[in-house]
Amino acid sequence: MPHSDLEVKRAYMRAYRKDYDQRDYVKQGNQEKRRLYYLGNKEKEANRMKNCRAKTLAQRERVYLIKARVLANYSNPAGVAICNNCGEKDLEVLCLDHINGEGTQQRKAIGCNTYDWVIKNEFPGGYQVLCYNCNIKKRGLDSLRKQAKNSPRIVRG
Ligand SMILES: [Zn+2]
Repeated sequence: MPHSDLEVKRAYMRAYRKDYDQRDYVKQGNQEKRRLYYLGNKEKEANRMKNCRAKTLAQRERVYLIKARVLANYSNPAGVAICNNCGEKDLEVLCLDHINGEGTQQRKAIGCNTYDWVIKNEFPGGYQVLCYNCNIKKRGLDSLRKQAKNSPRIVRG
């Protein structure tokens, strides 16, 4: 059930969860019910699992293509996904970095995948491509800078 308004979505999810917890089969524990269903429908369940795996692979491929498109757009030079710091080109280890930090807050605010959001918003500024090593290193340096800024200065006489 797609919701464009995040608060509406959260309210819906809370109400759904409350309703779900009140259902008899949930209160009694539906594990036994599931086990009996599985025993009576083994072939159907095997097919369902097979389809589920196929869907998962298709989903992974979709995510991979979206990631490649976004990273290629934010790379410097644009066109091929590359770490803006060290030049790493392996797409598996590249990620989108929020140049000014605060990625967690933004992820919470947008409530969906950042790559999808960036495409939907026509590649806004404030992002760069880094490999995970460079991203972690940058995060560590940012944290040290923040600590140094907030700590009282030592006055030497
Ligand atoms: Zn790097």
